[in-house]
Amino acid sequence: MISIPSRLRDAHVHLYAYGLELSCVGMASCASAEECLHRIAAAAEGRAPGEWIACTGARVEGWREARWPTAREIDDAAGGRLCFVRSFDLHAVAAGAAALRLAGVEAATPDPAGPGKEGVIARDASGDPTGLLLEGACELLWRAMPQPTPQEFKERVRAALRDFRRRGFVEVHDMLSQRLLGPSIAALIDEGDEAALGVRVWLYPALDDVAWTLEHEESFARDTLRLAGGKIFLDGTLNSRTAWMLAPYPEPLPGLPHGKAMHGEEAIEAAVRRCDALGLPLAMHAIGDAAVRAGLGAIERASPDTAGFRIEHCQFVDEADVPRFADLGVIASLQPCHLLPDIEALRRRTPHRMGRAFPLRDLLDAARAAGLEPQDAVWFGSDAPVVEPDPADNAQAAAHRRRGGMPAEDAIAPEQAITEAEAWACMRSEAWEAGG
Ligand SMILES: [Zn+2]
Repeated sequence: MISIPSRLRDAHVHLYAYGLELSCVGMASCASAEECLHRIAAAAEGRAPGEWIACTGARVEGWREARWPTAREIDDAAGGRLCFVRSFDLHAVAAGAAALRLAGVEAATPDPAGPGKEGVIARDASGDPTGLLLEGACELLWRAMPQPTPQEFKERVRAALRDFRRRGFVEVHDMLSQRLLGPSIAALIDEGDEAALGVRVWLYPALDDVAWTLEHEESFARDTLRLAGGKIFLDGTLNSRTAWMLAPYPEPLPGLPHGKAMHGEEAIEAAVRRCDALGLPLAMHAIGDAAVRAGLGAIERASPDTAGFRIEHCQFVDEADVPRFADLGVIASLQPCHLLPDIEALRRRTPHRMGRAFPLRDLLDAARAAGLEPQDAVWFGSDAPVVEPDPADNAQAAAHRRRGGMPAEDAIAPEQAITEAEAWACMRSEAWEAGG
């Protein structure tokens, strides 16, 4: 009998984005471009002409036609309303013609360029935008969207917290927390909102925002709400081949054989010192094994006094780096549930490093060897809204290394499986375990 904890922790979420996602038309279960357009048409019924129809979670690679709907198709389905369909990984969006116009995207618009801003406006044979915007080009559309009012922001956060509470979570760690987030949750707590009172929230704003947040913390901190650290990015993502890998990709992006390092060694070390000087730990986004190594190296050199430094994602960890987590007191914060939708991407992008993908067995064994309880060294989360925050998906991925119903030989690095009980332990919250 597996004991499933009644008090769960999701150690990596984006509360506002998830609340926003809950208010959107979900495309996660959509199987074709045709079905996508039907869903848009259904959502358009009864909506005011000026209202946005935001669709999220599309996995177009898995659709029957494996193609995005065009701007004209989206407009027809939406009855001319402003509409977009966003990819589950947030790296692509297909916009209707009305939305493209509002974003100022036309045939003469150049592809966005510049460090961190590069993007592609997909075009047809005659040079007209098809509606599909990739990477940095998505920003053209997001900039044209109306900003939420503080009230709207709060309502989305409320929706997210309710959803987490309903799923049994009593603790979530928000990554890249906006300035409005702390005050919004504090207001919900003060109103007596049950979900806000029932979920402990740790905030990790971007490193550049930590000092500001610390200055203002007194106004929003509550028993269950506090500033917990800062956040920086060391690399990109697996699907876009920008995760920073020790060994080159078999089919890399042009000019990026090892993916993309966001910062040099010295800058990472400086970030560790900067956060430590404020008395706070840093959460480092590191998907590739080279990024993980760079993060650990920076912590080793800076030797911070503050506890709680953590590396987010750890999708690949080289064998040599596994024991360094426990040695340095660094928490490995993983989302094994991403293995489920990423099985095909892992095979395609990183066949050379499959044995090091989500190395849970290694990390837990190393923690035990160092005298730590696994749940004190390895934390699980979902990265919602990237995927639905279903804790059972983390248990499935961690223990079976494949989607339910798949044959055993399809498992990714089965030697790295842990037991379901161990997986649930990595999701157990210590918050108010004494009942407080
Ligand atoms: Zn995230």
